[in-house]
Formats: sequence, C-alpha cells, structure tokens
Amino acid sequence: MDCLFCKIVSGEIPARKVFEDEVAIAFHDIHPQAPVHLLILPRKHVASLAQMGGTDEDKILLGHLLDSVIRIAVEQRLANGYRTVINTGKAGGQTVDHLHLHLLGGRAMEWPPG
Ligand code: AMP
Ligand code: ZN
Repeated sequence: MDCLFCKIVSGEIPARKVFEDEVAIAFHDIHPQAPVHLLILPRKHVASLAQMGGTDEDKILLGHLLDSVIRIAVEQRLANGYRTVINTGKAGGQTVDHLHLHLLGGRAMEWPPG
C-alpha cells in the first residue's frame, strides 16, 4: 500500500515527531497553518474517520487519539486554547488518506473555517 503516513509511521519517510506510543504518533505538519500545527494519527492504517466502524476496538482507538491530543496540548503549552480538526473525505478537505487529527494552536483561531 502506498500511504505517505504509513511510511512516516515505519520511518521510511522522516518527520519531526513530538509524541509516540504503542498506538499513535504525532509530528509537525510540513505546511504549518499556525505556530503549532501537529498531526496525530494511529500507527495502524485507517483511511478516514468514515471507515471507523463503531466496534469497541474503534472506539478505544478514537478515544486514544483524542486523549493523545490532550496530553500533547499540555506539552506544547497550549493552555490558552487550540483547535482540533479531522478532515474526512474529498468534500471534507482530506488530502492524505490515513486518518489523522490536526492540532492547531499558538494563535487565535477564526470561525467559520474555509
Ligand atoms: P488533510 O488535508 O487533512 O488530509 O491533511 C494532510 C496534512 O498532511 C496537510 O496539512 C499537509 O500539509 C500534511 N503533510 C503532507 N505531507 C506531509 C509530510 N511529509 N510530513 C508532514 N506533514 C505532511
Ligand atoms: Zn496509512
């Protein structure tokens, strides 16, 4: 399978990692949209949020990813607030088909998003 983020997980493609455990990794986005812009993703390949089937395993994985965001936000000193985004599918703006959460912070965010 030709998946960019699987290659980052395996180390084949380098990334600036800030966090990793047995389930997830996090690294700096290569085109940051804020002073802090990190991507948090499962080590295992899941194409998008829409592929998560509602099994107990999926629920645990999704909870683990959000829990990782909370811990990383503390480490990154984002106590003033931050934004977490999951783009899903073409219309959702997803460009890399491996489930990932964006963690954006270090500046005031605007709403609505583009
Ligand atoms: P999305 O559009 O939600 O699928 O997000 C994909 C993100 O991956 C974009 O913000 C890209 O800037 C980022 N990205 C693409 N290639 C790399 C890479 N090699 N290392 C880190 N981030 C990347
Ligand atoms: Zn993948």
